[in-house]
Amino acid sequence: MERKKVLVIEDNDLNMKLVAALLSISHFEVIKAANAEQGLQLARKERPGLILMDIQLPGMDGLTATRLIKEDEDLKNIPVIALTSYAMQGDEQKAFAAGCTGYIPKPIDTRKFIEVVEEFLGEDPLDQPVGSKK
Ligand code: MN
Repeated sequence: MERKKVLVIEDNDLNMKLVAALLSISHFEVIKAANAEQGLQLARKERPGLILMDIQLPGMDGLTATRLIKEDEDLKNIPVIALTSYAMQGDEQKAFAAGCTGYIPKPIDTRKFIEVVEEFLGEDPLDQPVGSKK
């Protein structure tokens, strides 16, 4: 059985390490991208079940990347969860407006993090990918 893939688009190395570790512990397969352009490429190639999207990225920002995903027939069904900064007021509203289905505030609460991921992916990491359920 294949593990569920989560694509993480995050330019901050420490955040990436933390998120990747939390996902790995919970048996998700982690795909990493340090910028939106690389993230979009990997989304097309790997077809993850979920995308975690940092908002502030070098080059294309996470909101623009989310809009592109939601306009793409092949990618639009993949849920995108924004990684928002606690300090950036209004990021959550902008994230929803861009097409995100949820958000996780940074700094990341390690206990809540996996709960949110599982909420969107289903609890069993070895379960069917999103879309083929129900
Ligand atoms: Mn960032």
